[in-house]
Amino acid sequence: MSIPSSFIDRLLSTVSIVDIINRRVQLERSGGRYKAKCPFHGDGNEKTPSFVVYEETGSYHCFACKASGNAINFLREYDGIDFMESVELLAASVGMEVPKQEKPVDLTDAISINTKATEIFKDQLKGPQGKNAVDYLKARGISGETAKFFELGFSMEKNPSLHSILSPQYNQNDLEDSGLFGTNDNGEMYDRFRDRLMFPIRNIKGEHIAFGGRLIADKDNQAKYLNSPETKTYKKKYELYGLYEARLIEKRPKSLFLVEGYMDVIGLHQYGIKNAIASSGTAFTPEQLRKILSYTNDIFVVFDGDEAGQKASWRAVENALPLLREDVRMSFIFLKPGDDPDSFIKNKGKDAFLKLADEAITFSEYFLDTIKKQDDLSSIEGRSRVAQFAVPLVDKIVNPTLREAYISEIGHICDLDFGKLLNGVINIVPENVKQEEPAKKVPVSVIRKSVLGIFTVLIQYPKLAGESFFNLIAKDSRFLFLHDVRNFYKDNPTAPPSILFEQIENEKIKNLFGEALVSEIKLSEENAKKMLNDCIDIISKSEKDRQETLKEKYNMQEITSAEKRELQQIILKKDVMSEEDQILLKNLSSK
Ligand SMILES: [Zn+2]
Repeated sequence: MSIPSSFIDRLLSTVSIVDIINRRVQLERSGGRYKAKCPFHGDGNEKTPSFVVYEETGSYHCFACKASGNAINFLREYDGIDFMESVELLAASVGMEVPKQEKPVDLTDAISINTKATEIFKDQLKGPQGKNAVDYLKARGISGETAKFFELGFSMEKNPSLHSILSPQYNQNDLEDSGLFGTNDNGEMYDRFRDRLMFPIRNIKGEHIAFGGRLIADKDNQAKYLNSPETKTYKKKYELYGLYEARLIEKRPKSLFLVEGYMDVIGLHQYGIKNAIASSGTAFTPEQLRKILSYTNDIFVVFDGDEAGQKASWRAVENALPLLREDVRMSFIFLKPGDDPDSFIKNKGKDAFLKLADEAITFSEYFLDTIKKQDDLSSIEGRSRVAQFAVPLVDKIVNPTLREAYISEIGHICDLDFGKLLNGVINIVPENVKQEEPAKKVPVSVIRKSVLGIFTVLIQYPKLAGESFFNLIAKDSRFLFLHDVRNFYKDNPTAPPSILFEQIENEKIKNLFGEALVSEIKLSEENAKKMLNDCIDIISKSEKDRQETLKEKYNMQEITSAEKRELQQIILKKDVMSEEDQILLKNLSSK
């Protein structure tokens, strides 16, 4: 079933998001917008409201936990209901009827092609050519019932090709958009998946949006696993394999196991763990984590104990930092190298697997252990490097209580005032190292505050966009966005800030702007001007030393590969390389 997107647009412009949210969360009017303590993090114990609702754009945003969206998103997260239910609920509240099958929207073609392909693949698995794939599943202990539940299938090597079956029914452009076919040099389409066990990927509504395919027999030059490419309907960073299926069993699962592969999800299901999910065709992303957290607060990350698994787990940690809350429990299970969840549960059973979950490493243990391992804690230099490593990580934690707890713990570990270090009050580099490296750089937090200051000033006094101080910011600077913001205010001095907020694409900048929007600071015009001058001064100074800028980008993990090479060149050209330079150079070349 599908709902036309035109109906969704009409629905969202008819309902009042303020009304919808206000029935669930106490909103407070403040200027042209509404604020509240965020319902999605911190148990409502926030000191200042970080949750803002914008009537004119029909959206909400939390500047602490970054929850954001429209009325449908709000209901899905707050009421824990799915898309369809949210739409029904909203429509009912304004007396609109949800059209079940109006005209199909564009997307349905790609979905209908993928759905049709699922049926064909399923039939082929049952046919004589599917025998090897069936044997493979049997060897893994996968029953026919489980294969049916996940709609497993088989793609033919040739005769008939999927393309030959589908091309009479669909137009070529739609087939191309489905992600199921490639095009050769002669412009002919060919099946992307051939001779593979097929895993249909369903979105949260149960629609078929993509496939994963596994080779059954090893073939030279062919990847064991292949996934559909990104299409209009398949945005990899958002999708989780198995989430739809897990929710068929339990709508709001108590916990979810995040595993690496399709077969892990299916193997665990077969042996009784029916709440496993996997990212598909991509490394684990923050968007996926946010999605998981809207269905459960308890996540087990289960990765292989090998290096790739460790890397993937650490990535999960980095993604989780901004989303950490007291009520979110994230734990890690590391299997022995060579083991995967699928083989583990097949050999040792459900109870042994659940025991692993009981003994899982907590987020804080894993996080702190990894930090400690960065250097030798018995030396001052080692401890300061460990602290330095931890700064950008802890800086990502927005939950105030947890942030405080980590600051205190890392302070103990490194035997220094980590809070001051984090806020840029003391310098990161210990005295003896500092002598070799006299270059002073403006700490990230000071730069951040300066950008925040500029936003705050412009929001309160748009006319200050005309000030000539802005010309101090170079046109090739990484602060080019400040010119964009300035130009916006020059052109639209009376526009409400939420309009600009909606236009900012870069998420970090958007969040900073949002922070300025909810800022309680009220400035006199004279002070605003002074503040603007100071902030621009700091920013233009910080730009002067290219090397420091690049290092900072590196530390913030925002460096591009071209900038990495530039930084390497700068270091390599030095007559004398400090120890810090050498470490940095090694790190730059390692990734
Ligand atoms: Zn929040």
